Amino acid sequence: MEYVESLLDLIGNTPLVRLARSIDGVDGGEGGDTPGPLLLAKVEYLNPGGSVKDRIASRMIEAAEASGELQPGGTIVEPTSGNTGVGLAMVAQQKGYHCVFVCPDKVSEDKRNVLKAYGAEVVVCPTAVPPEHPDSYYNVSDRLASQPGAWKPDQYSNPHNPRSHYEETGPEIWRQTDGRITHFVCGMGTGGTISGVGRYLKEQNPDILVIGADPAGSVYSGGTGRPYLVEGVGEDFWPETYDRTVADRVIEVSDADSFAFTRRLAREEAMLVGGSSGMAAFAAAQVTRELAGTPEGENAVIVVLLPDSGRGYLTKVFNDDWLAQYGFTTGQPQASRTVGEV
Ligand code: PMP
Repeated sequence: MEYVESLLDLIGNTPLVRLARSIDGVDGGEGGDTPGPLLLAKVEYLNPGGSVKDRIASRMIEAAEASGELQPGGTIVEPTSGNTGVGLAMVAQQKGYHCVFVCPDKVSEDKRNVLKAYGAEVVVCPTAVPPEHPDSYYNVSDRLASQPGAWKPDQYSNPHNPRSHYEETGPEIWRQTDGRITHFVCGMGTGGTISGVGRYLKEQNPDILVIGADPAGSVYSGGTGRPYLVEGVGEDFWPETYDRTVADRVIEVSDADSFAFTRRLAREEAMLVGGSSGMAAFAAAQVTRELAGTPEGENAVIVVLLPDSGRGYLTKVFNDDWLAQYGFTTGQPQASRTVGEV
């Protein structure tokens, strides 16, 4: 018989899938045997909770169990409504912990319901109050986290976030490419993924280039935190989990290009992924095109990490009316021209 004891045993070891169709004007790299850059996607939505964040959720919880910060039957409190919440809720359910997620009232009901479906509790705070107000998002989560038995993972400062990528995601990519990876492309939210994977890869081969993809406006690409619509990436502050020495280059990507490329990945590669994946893949396609036809490009193996599934964005990125409201095109077919223009 072939089975695992728990869904948690299926976290990680996600596959690399070649992206070929959506890279205009680049051939070659066939199976890595013919000259030409080879672009490979690390497909993180195949984790059991649907995103790369399953990895940090299980690692942060295991570390807190080992240190005694999280006691049997304890409560996990985190201000998140996104992928980290799903990962934590899934791991907590399997390990018998209670979860309380604090989120602002602007978070969609669908997202809250996903967390509740795993048995988590969701506390909704009003957006329209100042941070010092007792009902503010910040104050409520601090108050809940200071209760006896409560533990707050804090993905923005927890060293086990980047460490999970240093010890698992990075080695997987190195092994899967037989050590032939030359470029790693990744978006940055907490910065945990790029910092952990990037550090591991550079320790194996210092010539590997680590390239961040960032929404225009975010601090990582020199912005001030100006709003952008791509979710899960970009920041208006520098998180502790981001290693500022790891990226050799950061490519700024507009919302329009991120969304158009996200749509192309579904239509041309059959990959239904979120906007941050489209953003990272857009940057990786740019790197691939830069390398095509150059001597360096002949042996280039570019890996781009795609963090989550497009299922959570059906009413946004995959909704034509939503895109049109912001003046964005759907990426079909006329928007393909935006790809060559960066
Ligand atoms: N994409 C999505 C959809 C995410 O939720 C996150 C995490 N915030 C990221 C990318 C970025 O990953 P990291 O926090 O490791 O930088």
